[in-house]
Amino acid sequence: MFVFKTRSDLQAYLQSRRKQGSKIGFTPTMGALHEGHLSLIQLSKRENDCSVCSIFVNPTQFNDPKDLEKYPRTPDKDLALLDSVGTEVIFMPPVEEIYPPSVDTSLQLDLGQLDQVLEGEFRPGHFKGMAQVVKRLLDLVNPNNLYMGQKDFQQITIVGAMIRQLNLPVRLVRGDTLREADGLAMSSRNVRLSAENRAKAPVIYQTLQWAKNRLGSMDIQEIEAVALQRLSIPDFRPEYFRIVRTDNLQSGQKGDGLVACVACWAGDVRLIDNLILE
Ligand code: AMP
Repeated sequence: MFVFKTRSDLQAYLQSRRKQGSKIGFTPTMGALHEGHLSLIQLSKRENDCSVCSIFVNPTQFNDPKDLEKYPRTPDKDLALLDSVGTEVIFMPPVEEIYPPSVDTSLQLDLGQLDQVLEGEFRPGHFKGMAQVVKRLLDLVNPNNLYMGQKDFQQITIVGAMIRQLNLPVRLVRGDTLREADGLAMSSRNVRLSAENRAKAPVIYQTLQWAKNRLGSMDIQEIEAVALQRLSIPDFRPEYFRIVRTDNLQSGQKGDGLVACVACWAGDVRLIDNLILE
């Protein structure tokens, strides 16, 4: 396992791998790794000769400075986990390596409504920062394949739109959401849940499944409204529960290809999840 902190070291190594004709797979993360992240790396390992994982808590995608400060950081454990699945390359840059003052890393994209709805409504600027860092990392790693999770449905939709719009030479691969045995989607943020809220948190996935079962027998807006009620249990505060089209994240009808997306506070921890309904 090679751990690089600078872009020059990373690029020198990857250049030599590319010269050998190796196919490169890349999984960007913000660390505090769990099995969900590792499943993406395992997918990458199956489809590539060289798998790269980045660990970078990107400041430009945090609209709330407190959220950035509280974001869990477990670098030693992360490296041990990455080693255990045989990851070849880890890129753990400091902020100055990603955003050096000498380099213009700003990004102009026309995302239309994609970054305005759902998360975009509650986390203004989040997706601009996310797209900026993914573009920057893609420029540095230059992978053949990029691995991202369905867990962040809007994120992967926006990255797909960016790749098409900028005509980037990379294939985007979507990994399934890994869940705990009780259905809670694995997330770096789960470690911050109180024991009480952790016990109640499966209500999020249960509500998504309930919505899936109601599609066709109940009006979509009614499903959304009842879902919000079901999530409004003590210490839980849903921000949105929306059923939208998978292609453009706008409202749709049964048959359009729908996904249910939810964000819910559990105490002071904000959780998101989604379920493809059809
Ligand atoms: P993050 O470190 O939260 O930025 O996530 C890094 C990547 O892991 C993103 O592509 C996420 O969608 C993906 N990911 C996060 N949680 C899960 C999960 N439970 N199952 C599968 N992939 C996940």
